[in-house]
Amino acid sequence: MLSFFTKSRIRGGVHAESYKELTASDEIVTNFPLPKTLYIPLQQHVGKPAEPLIRVGDKVLKGQLLAYSQGMISAPVHAPSSGIILDVNDYPAPHPSALPIRMMVLETDGLDEWFTSPVVDDPFQLSPEDISLRVGAAGIVGLGGATFPTAVKLNMGRENKIDTLIINGAECEPYLSCDDRLMQERAEQIIDGVRLMLHGMESDHAVVAIEDNKPQAFYAMQKAARPYSVIKVIQIPTRYPMGWDRQLIRYVTGREVPVGCRSSEIGVTIHNVGTAHAVHKALRYGQALVNRVLTVSGGAVGRPMNVEVPLGTLISEVFAFCEVKSEQTARIIMGGPMMGESLPHTCLPTVKATSGLLALTESELKSNDVHPCIRCAACVTVCPAGLRPLDMANNIRMNQLDAAVDLGLKDCISCGCCSYICPSNIPLVQYFKYASGEVVARQQAQHKSEQTKRLMDDRNARLERIAKQQEEEEKARIAAKVERERLKAEQAAQEVSV
Ligand code: SF4
Ligand code: SF4
Repeated sequence: MLSFFTKSRIRGGVHAESYKELTASDEIVTNFPLPKTLYIPLQQHVGKPAEPLIRVGDKVLKGQLLAYSQGMISAPVHAPSSGIILDVNDYPAPHPSALPIRMMVLETDGLDEWFTSPVVDDPFQLSPEDISLRVGAAGIVGLGGATFPTAVKLNMGRENKIDTLIINGAECEPYLSCDDRLMQERAEQIIDGVRLMLHGMESDHAVVAIEDNKPQAFYAMQKAARPYSVIKVIQIPTRYPMGWDRQLIRYVTGREVPVGCRSSEIGVTIHNVGTAHAVHKALRYGQALVNRVLTVSGGAVGRPMNVEVPLGTLISEVFAFCEVKSEQTARIIMGGPMMGESLPHTCLPTVKATSGLLALTESELKSNDVHPCIRCAACVTVCPAGLRPLDMANNIRMNQLDAAVDLGLKDCISCGCCSYICPSNIPLVQYFKYASGEVVARQQAQHKSEQTKRLMDDRNARLERIAKQQEEEEKARIAAKVERERLKAEQAAQEVSV
């Protein structure tokens, strides 16, 4: 039984300036010019990278499988347009480090010719397992940014007997409005995707949760869901980070996901509206996930918009289309300004996780003027994870990472609420991102040194065993020699006496 709680049930959060009006009122732009070259990373998802199937020089169609998924948690990668594979090599990743990762380079032929998988007239006649298989084969991952393979989530949903599927239409990050537009313009397709997901999980209850700053999206989704009593569309308060899984689950169901557990273990699973739309396209049209709608916004963008682009399009081409003024751009962000990643340049591709590309001016950035902590505790009040950011930051400053971990560093979701609210401009979330990276690096180093020690111990034990064996063999050899000489002496004595 669902229960809808009041705002007091929301933990922490902030009312951030939205800037959504820059893009939310215009239709999704669908005439983005097809790029000449696409850079397609083999890892655009949580889990193992996909393994290439296609070789350099091969001709491919749009939607054709380029690389297959490996292992339990992975996702395949498909060609975002038709053309020829020019290269399979390492290229800079769309990440703050821009370190190289494996990509396929596709020279498009301009035809944009589809390869579609066979579809059935009525996908509801498919078994739930078949739904998962087709969703997995289409390379669908969580499009809210988490990029967890959707098929794996559907399987977990079946195994854990999910009673509530939450469709996340919160889109609480400032500037972003691609989910809002998708809900306004493609509500029926999204609702169809939701029904297919319910079928795939053998579940019969979905709640679409939309922040109350998107009334048109709410009405469009409510209208599309009206014929289906298993789907409820609700409005939730506008407050960042309402779209965080645990916050949303708490608000919608009243249930708390225990630390270290997955939401499916308490009977709930969450998918993004974009993911539901991709499921609809895969099962109704046999189309793999090869493009996505993303928001391009910020003070340096001449034509802010929501635009549908092929995956693998360079950010520089998206920015050129949106007339971004590079001389005014102080920071490039992939995602939203709160949880997105700052990128060093624009020669990086868009991927399945790219919900937004922001070109922000100096005036849109928080001042770098840091002052001492005045212990106002505002950061504690806004932390949705119930942490004490000021104490964690103090420990990190003193390089006491273990103490920061004891205070809950691993539960920090890097939402940035603490930094946003801090009157002293202390870059708290930067401390936590740095420290989390350090903790992981230290754990990896410790794991490596433990592994090395174990290997050394095994080697020493083996050498000891061999030495002992050799010593015993030597002793046996000497004993045999002594015995032989004794027998020889005995024999000689007998011969003398004869
Ligand atoms: S919000 Fe900033 S100034 Fe206030 S207690 Fe936290 S760190 Fe200190
Ligand atoms: S960034 Fe971490 S510590 Fe800061 S408010 Fe978010 S969860 Fe809390």
